[in-house]
Amino acid sequence: MNADRKIGPAPYALGLLAIAVSVSVAFFLAYWKGLGSLEDQAQHLADEMLFRSHAVSEQFDNTALKALLAQPGLQPCSDAGLEAMRRLAINSRALRVIGYIQNERLLCSSYGSHGDGIPVGPPSFVSKNGFAIRTAVPLPLAGNSLFLTTTHLGSGYTAFVMPGLVNDIMPGSSNAAFGLFGASSQKPMMGRGDLKLSSAWMSAPLDAAGTAIFRGEGHLVVLKRSPWFDYVAYGALPLSSIGPEFKTTSLILVPLALVSGLALAALIVLQAKRRLALPHRLRQGLRRDELFLAYQPIVDLATGRWVGAEALARWRTADGTLVPPDVFIPVAESEGLIRQVTAKVIANFGRDAVELFRRHPEFRVSINFSDQDLSDAQSVETLKACIQTLGIAPARIAVEITERALIHVDAVRRNIKTLRDAGTRIAIDDFGTGYSGLSYLATLELDALKIDKIFVDTIGTDAVTNSVVSHIIEIAKSMGLKMVAEGVETQAQADYLRAHGVECAQGWLYAKALPMGELLAGLNAQAQTGAATGT
Ligand code: C2E
Ligand code: CA
Ligand code: CA
Repeated sequence: MNADRKIGPAPYALGLLAIAVSVSVAFFLAYWKGLGSLEDQAQHLADEMLFRSHAVSEQFDNTALKALLAQPGLQPCSDAGLEAMRRLAINSRALRVIGYIQNERLLCSSYGSHGDGIPVGPPSFVSKNGFAIRTAVPLPLAGNSLFLTTTHLGSGYTAFVMPGLVNDIMPGSSNAAFGLFGASSQKPMMGRGDLKLSSAWMSAPLDAAGTAIFRGEGHLVVLKRSPWFDYVAYGALPLSSIGPEFKTTSLILVPLALVSGLALAALIVLQAKRRLALPHRLRQGLRRDELFLAYQPIVDLATGRWVGAEALARWRTADGTLVPPDVFIPVAESEGLIRQVTAKVIANFGRDAVELFRRHPEFRVSINFSDQDLSDAQSVETLKACIQTLGIAPARIAVEITERALIHVDAVRRNIKTLRDAGTRIAIDDFGTGYSGLSYLATLELDALKIDKIFVDTIGTDAVTNSVVSHIIEIAKSMGLKMVAEGVETQAQADYLRAHGVECAQGWLYAKALPMGELLAGLNAQAQTGAATGT
């Protein structure tokens, strides 16, 4: 028997898994949230970059250049030309300098003439809509700064984009990177931050809105193509900068996850324990009809013949374990399941007994009732109905009740009367082990008394309780009760009991509790030979 089985490692493993999963989910959520905020920042950078670039392009391509080209005869480096360029540059917020480049030389600008011209080198690339882009053009008058220039190929007019254009997008020592590259050329134009633009990045596929979001080389990158001009703005943040956000979110989420994970784990383990707990298994066993009966023959001490049997409940669980009644009957009693157990016992008995009484109408069977079975009419009525269905004399059936039952005086008295009125016999079980007073017992109508094994065991020994057996026998006689001695294991015990007038005995000396088939076989053998062949 393993009534207190261990739940094994599986529920604990499942519990640990629950904790691990919740914590992982928390970390994942924190990371995800961190990633989301990185993406927001990168989006913002790309948007800002695009917004500012658009302002420059607007003012040059659509305003200044149009104005200059609208004067066909204008010589760029003439006084009129310089004047025109200067006026446009001064009036434009985004364009500080407008110049004129011819043959890779800046010949003049809104600053004035540059004599033979400042060499500006070949363009970095030429944009789709006809602008030559140079990314690092020096302008001595403007200090050491290198300018991004965009030169209208048809006219040589050139816009100088201020390096300051991007300086204040992300102030401070941020590790963000952002800038601009040519959309069709996929060449860098301007940018800030410690990020090498790879061609793989610049050729990343854009969605219908002209946007791409991806992770590469430790960065989260957002690309946004200008809908009007031939460039793409980018914003990028190192994935490592997820740290602080991740940390603060984790600090909230992970303890929460840990607590809920632990609660879940505890629930899993508790549930597993509950499932293994006897009450749960007994309920299940009752539903699945796992209870059955064994019948221990009761022997007439004078003749040695089997005259009756005690029906004893047996429970084999689904996994084949035989749980002894000493274990599950007390559980059934404390869990309020005993009436269901008794109902099963009676139902099983009703099935088993048809054949038994057909062949051996004189046989007697005793059935055990717990005190709760006598506290109301339910079990009593069930038994009466069973006897009726079997169509046997009610006197063939004895109900064994213990002294403990007699604590609930009134209801028990009423139910005992009901049973006796119906003709059923009442035996007092485990006599001498309970607490009821003898005087009280005398007021009940009883038929038999079962002498408990603990007293039978003392027969032939010099234990102090030795003399109790003879006392019990005297009491039974004085009350006019028949006697059945329980747990008789030796011939000496049987001899003593017979010599002292005990009528019947039950014990391993004669037979253990048997399946109905074996009881019938024994009874049939007894009918033929006059003696049963007990196992
Ligand atoms: P009990 O009513 O006193 O039943 C007698 C017990 O003594 C049985 O144990 C029986 O197998 C055992 N026994 C009989 N002869 C010998 C023997 O020579 N030596 C030894 N060592 N034992 C012997 P079992 O079947 O394990 O039942 C234990 C107890 O469980 C019963 O004691 C009874 O209190 C309870 N029980 C069994 N079936 C039912 C039932 O259907 N309803 C109720 N309410 N209680 C039951
Ligand atoms: Ca009994
Ligand atoms: Ca007993």
